[in-house]
Amino acid sequence: MDAAEFRQRGKEMVDTVADYLENIQKRPVFPSVQPGYIRELVPESAPETAESWEDLFGDIERVVMPGVTHWHHPQFHAYFPTANSYAALCADMLSDAIGCIGFSWASSPACTELEMVMMDWLGKMLDLPQEFLFCSGGKGGGVIQGTASEATLVALLAARNQTIHREKEANPALTEADIMARMVGYCSDQAHSSVERAGLLGAVKIVKLSSDRKQSLRGETLAQAVQKDKEKGLIPFFVCGTLGTTPSCAFDSIEELGAVCNLEKIWLHIDAAYAGSAFICPEFRYLLSGVQFADSFNFNPHKWLRVTFDCSAMWIKDSSKLVDAFNVDPLYLKHDNQGKVPDYRHWQIPLGRRFRSLKLWFVLRLHGIKGLQEYIRQHVKLAHEFEALVLADERFEIVAEVVLGLVCFRLKGANDINEQLLQRINQDGRIHLVPSKIGNTYFLRFAVCAPYAESKDVQFAWTVLTELATELLKEKK
Ligand code: PLP
Repeated sequence: MDAAEFRQRGKEMVDTVADYLENIQKRPVFPSVQPGYIRELVPESAPETAESWEDLFGDIERVVMPGVTHWHHPQFHAYFPTANSYAALCADMLSDAIGCIGFSWASSPACTELEMVMMDWLGKMLDLPQEFLFCSGGKGGGVIQGTASEATLVALLAARNQTIHREKEANPALTEADIMARMVGYCSDQAHSSVERAGLLGAVKIVKLSSDRKQSLRGETLAQAVQKDKEKGLIPFFVCGTLGTTPSCAFDSIEELGAVCNLEKIWLHIDAAYAGSAFICPEFRYLLSGVQFADSFNFNPHKWLRVTFDCSAMWIKDSSKLVDAFNVDPLYLKHDNQGKVPDYRHWQIPLGRRFRSLKLWFVLRLHGIKGLQEYIRQHVKLAHEFEALVLADERFEIVAEVVLGLVCFRLKGANDINEQLLQRINQDGRIHLVPSKIGNTYFLRFAVCAPYAESKDVQFAWTVLTELATELLKEKK
């Protein structure tokens, strides 16, 4: 494809994308294909000679679309949302075209510098403490990671490194292996599995602590665990607090956890993967209270802030702790301005990195803070609309407080009936939901996800749900 053809095909592709998103509701939200379906539809090997655009283009509908779960569909209510906007799509096109690999400032200065400014913009939108921002002139700053899982791992590795140094200073006879064998990190029993995974990858123990009745991890629980572990000779070094847990969008008490962490010199990382976007609205910022205690903070604009995957925003108060943990400096990566600006390769696990800040720049400028706040508020409003429908039907109950865009609900009674209801919902195919469990209670999660979600979509989902529930309950009788 040369430039002339790209001009034509690129424009056609833009139309295809706009048509796809504008008409997405006409497709089934969840595919009905079986594992291995694509092997039946594509040749076993790549073509020897070039094929035509027309042949390829036709295969999008034939091969790909039948197996797509449409995450931006108005009837998609599973997991948490993944963000989307035309602004971000345009920016990503430019990012792909520039195609720089911004591992150091010199490898493409705009890539590093725009990211620094965007992370400051975003940090100010959340009203993060100044120490997290580059513009404070201190050691803090932000970086775009690929995912919240990576951010947690990066934080854990930096905390691990800091602890090893500290322990060795106090007792030079200790080996790294001795210290690591005694290190222990904590999260709540509601934390995302990526925290446990970070422990596995970092070869340190992670203990899941019990959350309270509101699925919140409290300071007292942490303080007791730390005390007990210290008595056993262990070294508490890391806590991951969650704001907006995956099962029920619950919030750990960061204020309480932070006080314990500061007292015990434990690294506090905050995972606000989904909920973080809501903190651009002042009315939700109370949930962030205690963030001043954190060493690192992360959320995913690619979940709820109109920025397409991947864009996971992470801030750290003292970036030298990342650089200490990840710094390897081969000659071919050195440059004359080293030390004057961040070389982001020291802030992350891979070497290569995309020009992801372009997506933030486009979205923040083309939507504005007000536009993004309205977006968040609309989703929260719709979640409360759904909650009201659940509360008005005495066959159902709400399982967890609805704070943002997630409603956790169930039919009153046994888990069994709820499992059957979910099975019927997903077999029916008009809406798509996933379940969750807290303790022994199985429930359904209704997440407001679609970029253009409206009241009629909530009403539609409720109609489908109650129709299927009525049928099910009738059969059971
Ligand atoms: N943390 C929380 C609280 C989440 O809800 C999720 C995913 O939904 C993750 C972490 C993982 O996010 P990522 O896919 O960006 O690693």
